[in-house]
Amino acid sequence: MQIYADNAATTKMSDAAIEAMTDCMRNWYGNPSSLYTIGQKAKEKLEEAREEIAKVINAEPREIIFTSGGSESDNQALLTAAIDGKSKGKKHIISSAFEHHAILHTLNKLEKNGFEITLLPVHENGIIRLDELEAAIREDTCLVTIMTANNEIGTIQPISEIGAICKKHGVVFHTDAVQAVGHLPIDVKAQNIDMLSASAHKFHGPKGTGFLYVRKGIIPKNLIEGGAQERGKRAGTENLPGIMAMSAALKEAVAGMEHNNDHMSEIRDYLISGLSEIPHSALNGDAKQRLAGNVNFSFEGIEGEGILLLLDQRGISASSGSACTSGALDPSHVLLAIGRIHDVAHGSLRLSVGEDITKKEADYIITSVKEVVAHLRSFSPVWRDLTDGKKEFILQ
Ligand SMILES: *Cc1c(COP(=O)(O)O)cnc(C)c1O
Repeated sequence: MQIYADNAATTKMSDAAIEAMTDCMRNWYGNPSSLYTIGQKAKEKLEEAREEIAKVINAEPREIIFTSGGSESDNQALLTAAIDGKSKGKKHIISSAFEHHAILHTLNKLEKNGFEITLLPVHENGIIRLDELEAAIREDTCLVTIMTANNEIGTIQPISEIGAICKKHGVVFHTDAVQAVGHLPIDVKAQNIDMLSASAHKFHGPKGTGFLYVRKGIIPKNLIEGGAQERGKRAGTENLPGIMAMSAALKEAVAGMEHNNDHMSEIRDYLISGLSEIPHSALNGDAKQRLAGNVNFSFEGIEGEGILLLLDQRGISASSGSACTSGALDPSHVLLAIGRIHDVAHGSLRLSVGEDITKKEADYIITSVKEVVAHLRSFSPVWRDLTDGKKEFILQ
């Protein structure tokens, strides 16, 4: 059996997206900035895609900037808020401890440039507390950036409530919604979102394509200088094949969202209850307030890398943290942020299943994980110390 259970890292492109991409490559190859008919046809396709995408999050087309993906969108959003903030003497930014590195590393850079950063705790359930957010807001706060859904443990933040608090205090609110767009309903107006990042390859679109929503009234600052594309806010000839494919993928994802989420959350809960039978294990993040396809467990006494390699031999593709950190020795900053100690965080497994996951595949996953964990524990010195009583179990 071959099961791809790493959809939080990236997804397979949908047929509709591949068709839109090849259609563009064959037929709409003009440069949208060119004045002749072939160029203007490409421009039409570009603006059609912008309208379709804007509609999905209840934005206006002119509020959408096409980018190379989630990382670029996050960088541009933070730079925009930082430059605007600095011009008003506001140099304080609030975020959370378990953001994606595209946010955290950018915040580090801003900190070195004189900004003050407050990282809110995400607590054991992987969700920030609204009273702590409100208490952290100061006179000089220029930005709150909190992700909509976490890429490792799938927990979903109270975005509408965060938006309302930011609006009340007049603070710009950005959300990294890369894991949410195409998977959760989003309404930037109703939710008071000022800026939002998205990436096509997390909803069955192509890699290297994404967008940033910037509310009217905020002027985006350029990361890339050059031509006048994207209203002068992101230079470079537009990636029209990617953009058309992203639009097709998003349309399909939104149309199937409710049905897919019902199905995936049923399988998710089934996986959670099956894996919970493994002794000295624990689910990471809130059991219900999480993405429909996300399951993340820690197993005491073993290493996540070992689990991954043995699952791969059985045809299951999974992850031990975020793709960026696996291979590194440090345990996931997300698991540390929810209070898992190093040893426990090391033995973690993320399964992010797709829309087409079946009950039979879930059974195969549960059996495989149970066997793999038992096997690894059978020769783990840490596990031996735990069972001999030389070390105390953390997970019951
Ligand atoms: C994948 C991901 C990103 C990065 O997106 P890219 O398109 O790969 O640059 C940023 N934030 C989150 C939450 C993600 O899951």
